[in-house]
Amino acid sequence: MIESGRIDSALARLRTIVGENWLLSSPTDIAHYCADWRGRYHGDALCVVRPASTAELSQVVHVCAEAGLPMVPQGGNTGLCGGATPHVGRKEVVVNLSRMNRIRSFDRDNASITVEAGCKLATVQAAALEAGLLFPLSLASEGSCEIGGNLSTNAGGVHVLRYGTARDQVLGLEVVLPDGRIWDGLRGLRKDNTGYDLKQLFIGAEGTLGFITAAVLALAPLPAYSALAWVALDGVQQALDLLARLREKAGERLNAFELVGQEALELVLRHIPGARDPFAQQAPWHALIELSGNDAALDEQFEQMLAALLEGGVVRDAVIARDVAQARALWALRENISEAQRIEGLSVKHDISVPVSAIPHFIKSAGERLLAAFPGIRLVVFGHAGDGNLHYNLSFADAGDNADLIADGHAASVLVHQTVTECAGSISAEHGIGQLKRDLLPHFKSQVEMDMMHAVKHAFDPHGLMNPGKVLVVRQA
Ligand code: FAD
Ligand code: ZN
Repeated sequence: MIESGRIDSALARLRTIVGENWLLSSPTDIAHYCADWRGRYHGDALCVVRPASTAELSQVVHVCAEAGLPMVPQGGNTGLCGGATPHVGRKEVVVNLSRMNRIRSFDRDNASITVEAGCKLATVQAAALEAGLLFPLSLASEGSCEIGGNLSTNAGGVHVLRYGTARDQVLGLEVVLPDGRIWDGLRGLRKDNTGYDLKQLFIGAEGTLGFITAAVLALAPLPAYSALAWVALDGVQQALDLLARLREKAGERLNAFELVGQEALELVLRHIPGARDPFAQQAPWHALIELSGNDAALDEQFEQMLAALLEGGVVRDAVIARDVAQARALWALRENISEAQRIEGLSVKHDISVPVSAIPHFIKSAGERLLAAFPGIRLVVFGHAGDGNLHYNLSFADAGDNADLIADGHAASVLVHQTVTECAGSISAEHGIGQLKRDLLPHFKSQVEMDMMHAVKHAFDPHGLMNPGKVLVVRQA
């Protein structure tokens, strides 16, 4: 227990560092920062601090470390597992980095850009585009999420198939350590074998090892053309056949391969204004496929590929976007699934990955188990099938049944995770662990792996002040 005199003095020092306007403490002012995007987690905080620079943040962390105050890093607050939400009654300091949003530099010859953690993902994409390059990370939340959050969750999204996850875009990092020291690792190097690659520890650490304050990001060449199709499929195995054929025909031009189950599409059609089913006839599965490249005939080539696949019976139906508006409308069907689901109410979410080849077994087996245990349960399945990553969300249409399911979500998740284990998969492909899956983690990792994670945590944050209660429960020494 920290005595109140020490807290008051820390608050006063924090206020001096960031300025009166950037330390919030009234319940109304901090409410927005104390709940997550889904509305599943609600915490409270001693205060919310909003530093404007790495130097200010470093001082903030010094003060918190000295006073023994736990810190919760926060970016765009779009995370889906409660990682950026403080706990109730623990006097945590939420440190929101959104004001640290400068693009520091751009290096054309090195094809890299150096940005601060609070830059929105969409801002970085736009800056790259303006320079005739591509920052390929792309998520439905890109208008709100921030680079610091993207790197701390090692975000995935729709272009992992071709460009990899957030981790793969990073050349260098700047970090404020849990004791307030600044590590300047802002190197723009594609090759650097000088010992441990420390930046990789902070990427995907969900704010448990320190604050990412800036990053050097690699940019890719901007393809001149892109083509998009929405395809109806009879089954999941057909989706894999289609993926294999496209890999063969389109090669590295295959940018995105997203799977959408009928239940997921129906949610969007029901709740999102203007959403329209591209086909008159329902199909059990759909795929959204994007190619990009430099050949002006890309659209025609894609059309020929799809025509052959239609003829060969791999796909049931297909439509190619003819213009930007149509492409937007098709992407909206995929990208609004989470939003439509949120409108419908809470669901038991899973963000799993399995080897791509195991997707049909996973879907069949998890579905059978769930329907046997929870007759009538609705399986909303969609995701980045090209990476073996599925969002597998469970709910009942009836609010009463759903309340029971949410209250005992664990029972349903056990069945899903049992199937994931059978498929040698992961319980979190891209959203992370946060609070949501923290207690599950030790059941899916070996003792050796957990020991190594605890050793890393202890080495960086011996007093357990960085985002406590997220990812790991710190072991008492
Ligand atoms: P926050 O939510 O603020 O924080 C996330 C975690 O990172 C927390 O643990 C926080 O403590 C930590 N953190 C934040 N900033 C820092 C920092 N500077 N230093 C250290 N730690 C920090 N995710 C995907 O991977 N793929 C998707 O396709 C995807 N689609 C989404 C669609 C929707 C509609 C929504 C709402 C979310 C989606 N997400 C997706 C989840 C979310 O957008 C990502 O996890 C995103 O990377 C979080 O960024 P943020 O800035 O909002 O981070
Ligand atoms: Zn996703």
